[in-house]
Amino acid sequence: MSPYSSSGLEVRDLSVTRGAFTLEVDFALPPAGVTVLFGPSGAGKSLLLSAIAGLTPLRSGGVRLDGRWLEGPDAPVRAAAHERRIGLVFQEARLFPHLSVRDNLRYAQARAGVSAAPMGFDEVVAEFGLGDLLGRSVRGLSGGEKSRIAIARALLAAPRWLLLDEPFAALDGRRRRERLVHLRDLSARADLPMIVVTHLVEDVVDLADHVVALRAGRCVISGDVAGAMAGEDFLSLLEDRDVGARIDRPSVRSGGTQARGGAVWVRADTVILASSAPSGLSARHVWAGRVRSMRREAEGSCLVRLETEAGDLLSRITQEAAEELSLSPGGAVWAVVKTHAF
Ligand code: ADP
Ligand code: MG
Repeated sequence: MSPYSSSGLEVRDLSVTRGAFTLEVDFALPPAGVTVLFGPSGAGKSLLLSAIAGLTPLRSGGVRLDGRWLEGPDAPVRAAAHERRIGLVFQEARLFPHLSVRDNLRYAQARAGVSAAPMGFDEVVAEFGLGDLLGRSVRGLSGGEKSRIAIARALLAAPRWLLLDEPFAALDGRRRRERLVHLRDLSARADLPMIVVTHLVEDVVDLADHVVALRAGRCVISGDVAGAMAGEDFLSLLEDRDVGARIDRPSVRSGGTQARGGAVWVRADTVILASSAPSGLSARHVWAGRVRSMRREAEGSCLVRLETEAGDLLSRITQEAAEELSLSPGGAVWAVVKTHAF
């Protein structure tokens, strides 16, 4: 029995079809924090959100929220989408193009008919920095602005869960990260559990407390973020160049910088190995460690798994380099990483 069986969100023996595609999953999510729904394009992530929100009927199985069946054989009646209190923010925002930003927000609030929303209109507007946009038409807004409005609109309907399909896809780099960290912070402050879809490994690191991963319509992982990201199942979902390891964000040694908290993803391709303690390097991170295991890959490369002072790391080097360094399991090794690698 799942530890979350009486509260939280349960997706039980769920089966949904779309065209020739079938999604079949079973998992339970804790009633707090951010769950990242991860997987390659076409894996069924958007379809799963649609099913949970009640927009796509199930072929079999059920969805239970805080112990109450919304749909499925044990549900007294099938709860319609608007009765579920599950907010869904689509990837493409789906705002009303003929309405102003203010009217988009007001419309959602009115239609939800919720009198005691935990966050009022002004609060939501301030939360997402929309004050200056209220009078504007939705036409001509940037992708990032539309995402913020779509999330604000969903919040005004006082959801008990918020589902977001690849939010801030229009942003990249630091602005994207700031937005995602804000979402995570909001989830904690507002006590609002979320499911956030992404196919980017950095997003998982920035957002997730819990990870559910799909491949070809099947759930291959459901677990806490640290365990999920360290497993072979997770690595097998990544492109070669994204393979790496999640470690606690390190502090820079000599600069006296405090550790900022959070975690980072260190790609195997960015980790240099040395067979003796290196010195005189510009790289800020040099960690002593030990080889755990080595795996030959195609095209003459070798994936080395290391245990270091900073945590377990992966390094991809050439087989030639592995031989020159005489690397073998159990042997001492130093890992060198530039700060800019994460
Ligand atoms: P993801 O969000 O993970 O990229 P989707 O949930 O959008 O994946 O799609 C899952 C699968 O459903 C796809 O692989 C595709 O085969 C199928 N699919 C999606 N949209 C349609 C559609 N409109 N008609 C038929 N099949 C579809
Ligand atoms: Mg999708």
